[in-house]
Amino acid sequence: MYALKNSILLKEKYHEDVEIYILYTDMRTHFKGYEEFYGRAREHGINFIRGRVSQIVEIPKTKNLLISAEDMMLGEPIELEAELVVLSTAAIPSKGTDEVARILSVTRGADGFFMESHPKLKPLDTAVDGIFLAGACQGPKDIPYSVSQGSGAAARAATILSQPTWKIEPIIAEVIPNVCRNIKVKCGICEKKCPYGAIKAVVGQPAQVTAAMCHGCGTCVAECPADAITQMHFTDPQIFAQIKAGLDENPESKILGFLCNWCSYAGADLAGTSRFEYPPTLRAIRVMCSGRVDRDFVLEAFRQGAGMVLVAACHLPYDCHYISGNEKMKVRMEALAKMFEKLGLSPERFRIEYISAAEGVKFAGLIKEMAEQMETLGTEKIKAENEKLRPILDKMLSKKKK
Ligand code: SF4
Ligand code: SF4
Repeated sequence: MYALKNSILLKEKYHEDVEIYILYTDMRTHFKGYEEFYGRAREHGINFIRGRVSQIVEIPKTKNLLISAEDMMLGEPIELEAELVVLSTAAIPSKGTDEVARILSVTRGADGFFMESHPKLKPLDTAVDGIFLAGACQGPKDIPYSVSQGSGAAARAATILSQPTWKIEPIIAEVIPNVCRNIKVKCGICEKKCPYGAIKAVVGQPAQVTAAMCHGCGTCVAECPADAITQMHFTDPQIFAQIKAGLDENPESKILGFLCNWCSYAGADLAGTSRFEYPPTLRAIRVMCSGRVDRDFVLEAFRQGAGMVLVAACHLPYDCHYISGNEKMKVRMEALAKMFEKLGLSPERFRIEYISAAEGVKFAGLIKEMAEQMETLGTEKIKAENEKLRPILDKMLSKKKK
């Protein structure tokens, strides 16, 4: 596994420039006791061939099956006649997965299986407090692994049930009651946009967040038309201050990136720890979810003179750790991109991208590509576009400056 992992990293780093060979003399299986299974199978005369099957056809005379394949060890085509062929099918999530995910607000991975909160630090937890994973709902698993996961999940649940009170993350949303429009006119946008059903907006009253249900994605904060919601530790003034600091010097030669914590920021982190090089022009701002990226943040970045703006999120449709924050961001940002295009901004200056925690190479490649595009556009053109845009942005952000 170690050799395999390193070979993938090398291949990603040098792309097609190097040929990598992993030489092994024997097949090895992982997990306790599996090697013994393999040994016993060999003793029983079962032959293992590493290969790819191209077709299976019935022989009319004998009714046997003829398998055509490539022996990958010898690099030669082979044909085998068999009475029975058992296909090992790929596993897919069960039919009810969709409905359970919807009812419990549990997120799913790109393969459709339920997704853990963190692959290393919280492998049994889901993003929803109090809901844990065990067994093949998370991906294909054998019985011993499923049983040990079940014991672990029960122990995790016991840590909650044994406590008289439970502490939650402080990064939650708060409504500023006297600013909420819902007091005077029917609004309730936040209620509709919250992926966890954590907000109630009764007409005539300010919207209310149920703190224990809030997961701190910040989507409601970005969607509220009255700026009546704030997210603790990710408030608008805090993020505006970061935008200003990031673009303090030579803003027209900077890429300002809003990166979601769980995927894109982790992808950037991987690029760093794997030493994938990219130009030092990026200024990254971390948000918990791309759903928190308010259109005002992008407007302010260009008002401050940014050369490029990047909003990077988890892959669609399932990868978002907050169920659908990335989908909400997509709708909001694509509308903004259309507006910028009409206002004469070069389209490459505003990018919406999807990068997972494992895509360090993609992240480094993207920043390289954006930096090259920025150089091709040239400082003068960027400055001229920004100057043209500034009065409009000033007007659009006038409410924020108050
Ligand atoms: S979106 Fe904003 S203004 Fe509308 S109900 Fe929610 S908090 Fe109030
Ligand atoms: S949208 Fe996100 S931040 Fe807002 S209340 Fe729902 S979970 Fe909390």
